[in-house]
Amino acid sequence: MLRGLIRKSIFLGSAFVAMFFIYSGEGFSQSLEQEATVEENIPTEEGLTVKFADTDLEGAADALANASSYTVNLQIQDRSFPNGGGSVPEVEIRGVHNGKDIFLGIRWSDATKNDRAIKHEQFRDAVGLMFPLGIVKISPETPFSPRMGDRGKTVNIWHWKADWERDLQADGGYEHMEDQYPDMFHDFDSDPHPCIFNKTVHDSVDLLAGGISAGSLLSLPRGRSVEDLNAVGFGTLTAQTHQDVNGAGAWSDGQWDVIVYRPLKTEDENDVQFTPGKSTFFNMAVWNGEDGDRNGLKSVSIRWRPITLESSR
Ligand code: CA
Ligand code: CA
Repeated sequence: MLRGLIRKSIFLGSAFVAMFFIYSGEGFSQSLEQEATVEENIPTEEGLTVKFADTDLEGAADALANASSYTVNLQIQDRSFPNGGGSVPEVEIRGVHNGKDIFLGIRWSDATKNDRAIKHEQFRDAVGLMFPLGIVKISPETPFSPRMGDRGKTVNIWHWKADWERDLQADGGYEHMEDQYPDMFHDFDSDPHPCIFNKTVHDSVDLLAGGISAGSLLSLPRGRSVEDLNAVGFGTLTAQTHQDVNGAGAWSDGQWDVIVYRPLKTEDENDVQFTPGKSTFFNMAVWNGEDGDRNGLKSVSIRWRPITLESSR
């Protein structure tokens, strides 16, 4: 009898576990990262050629206008929760270098200029470029996850943000709650800029405002619109100590035009390095704030694309 009860309880227990997995399948597939497919580790044949051009920052926009464009097709980010995006079908990229700096021109259609993210329901437009760190071969036999890299396979990400671009024009280097809510009132003012009535609080801002005292890029006038980051897989995105990428962007007639630039080589071991005459790979992501895109809710390219720098002359 005891044996029968044990058998029964094992059977019922197994059935319960099986049913639990069957009926919670959707929840599990959304919250677990999925492995990259074989195809995702086959880089595209075609890629971006970064032409040599005898230009400086001043002439970069003209040099990029003369460079041929490469179109990157995008799709919904469907692998890691929260999934989303997918409303931006493609992005155009051009590249030139002058032997010292690389300039990348990025253009995409977007009917809405979303360059403020102060209200909780406001989200920014943005574009990201991702490069594998170091010299890598990417193939099904030597995989390198195109989904934010993987443990031991770091990516360097350059993230241009429309609200950071707008911040560059703002008094003090970034916009405040008051810019969104001009008639707002608060009776204990620990905001660093408007606190002109209470000198004690004003002098204690570095202590009262955690982001500022931690030196967070999100809290300080940062003087740039591109963030230099690293990741080793989903959920590991980290701002770098050494910010090396600059950029500028403008929206006009339903289109964003963004230029990002950086020295070909930097002193930072966490940065991708470029050598004229050599190739590496890249991937892209675009966010449309109007559609609620943020974080993992974005339009992404999947397969790595070659990026090849023409030899310097
Ligand atoms: Ca938009
Ligand atoms: Ca860096």
